[in-house]
Amino acid sequence: MSDPVIEVEELTVRYGAAVALDAVSLSVRAGEMVALIGPNGAGKSTLVNTLSGILSPASGRVTVTGRLAHVPEGRQMFGSLTVDDNLRLGAWRDRDRSTGRIYAILPELEPVRRRRAGLLSGGQQQMVALGRALMGRPRALVIDEMSLGLAPLVVAGLAAHLRALNAEEGLAVLLIEQNARLALELCSRAYVLEAGRLVAHGSAAELASSPAVVAAYLGGA
Ligand code: ATP
Repeated sequence: MSDPVIEVEELTVRYGAAVALDAVSLSVRAGEMVALIGPNGAGKSTLVNTLSGILSPASGRVTVTGRLAHVPEGRQMFGSLTVDDNLRLGAWRDRDRSTGRIYAILPELEPVRRRRAGLLSGGQQQMVALGRALMGRPRALVIDEMSLGLAPLVVAGLAAHLRALNAEEGLAVLLIEQNARLALELCSRAYVLEAGRLVAHGSAAELASSPAVVAAYLGGA
């Protein structure tokens, strides 16, 4: 198996005296799509912010091999800029980088490339956010609450693109989702975070049949 692209080892992060993450370990390899699920306040944003270097660990380690891009919750478009300009912002270090590759990967964006991002549907905006992240040619993507507010068919379209990127380009994907059902459908493995601790991890199939996971996250009895 390949080495992990994202590796989190015994990570502890505090806000003052409050422990937001307590000895959390997880990894994502090239070509893998892994889910991190958990309720509000579990520590998901804290983990993402530590991965992107905004927060520093109190102890433990975060290692990312190659570039990591973050697709933020809420898409964070510049609504008055065009789709093409929003994409370019993903490669601000290299202003000459062409957006052509992104339209080849996400052909749905080509017809709307000159449209203002603020006029797009939620699904189209999520696709722009994904394309903008890909502009930086990352080896790893962290995607925050991709499905929020989107119709299942739209989510399925986004998921198909992620699977292709995963398989064809070996992109490592960490999907942070409150929608556990969706996360377990899309990903091969998942971690469950509660109150700053990993309470379960395993293959999506294992977790989907775990009574504790079903009761807490899949709305079953
Ligand atoms: P959500 O899905 O609501 O964003 P989350 O799983 O991302 O939740 P975090 O935002 O990482 O959870 O929060 C983890 C814990 O840390 C929570 O108890 C939260 O109240 C606390 N916390 C988050 N940010 C701060 C902060 N800046 N100062 C103090 N405590 C914080």
